[in-house]
Amino acid sequence: MDLNSHIEKILWTDQEISQRVSELASQITQDFSTNSDSSSSSSAPIIVGVATGAFLFLADLVRKIQLPISVDFVRIESYGSGTVSCGKPKITCDLKIDVRDKHVIVVEDIVDTGSTLSFLIEYLKSKGSLSVSVCTLLDKPARRKVNFELVGSGKFYCGFECPDYFVVGYGLDFAELYRNLPYVGVLKPELYQ
Ligand code: 5GP
Ligand code: MG
Ligand code: MG
Repeated sequence: MDLNSHIEKILWTDQEISQRVSELASQITQDFSTNSDSSSSSSAPIIVGVATGAFLFLADLVRKIQLPISVDFVRIESYGSGTVSCGKPKITCDLKIDVRDKHVIVVEDIVDTGSTLSFLIEYLKSKGSLSVSVCTLLDKPARRKVNFELVGSGKFYCGFECPDYFVVGYGLDFAELYRNLPYVGVLKPELYQ
């Protein structure tokens, strides 16, 4: 099976993604270096990846962030295996690291309706995070249904604004396939309709 033949068009190539990831990492490095005692590990931000979609983005991003950081993952599900959300998000695999009094940077593949993110931010807030920032590879603002508020001095970082297509690749799946494509592209509609 040639995965590339399932793609109607490429939206961002691996080179474009890599360039943008470098820019995001520099911005994060700069913003979090100004934290009062950024050299001590107690103020090191915790990068919380939302599994599974964020795994490639997170791996590339953290290698370019020049700060002491910790990495953890949370698994949140609401989508099932289709292309439309089904119901409320729930945590199906919890964090290992205690986020109390820590700066957290949530790393997401894509913000679509916003329900996953707003749920996760509220969860991190309830766990006592000092601040919650969000770094998402893609944002589809046209589909937003739930607004989210960052916590404390949290910032919003976004790689690219995504048009209203169902996209796959660079971590994003359809029915758990296509995550390993090195680029982000639009799946041929006949494959999911
Ligand atoms: P939200 O809760 O914001 O509606 O959706 C968040 C999750 O839905 C994303 O983290 C992602 O896993 C999935 N999702 C939303 N839009 C897309 C898309 O265009 N392609 C893929 N593969 N997943 C998507
Ligand atoms: Mg996700
Ligand atoms: Mg998915």
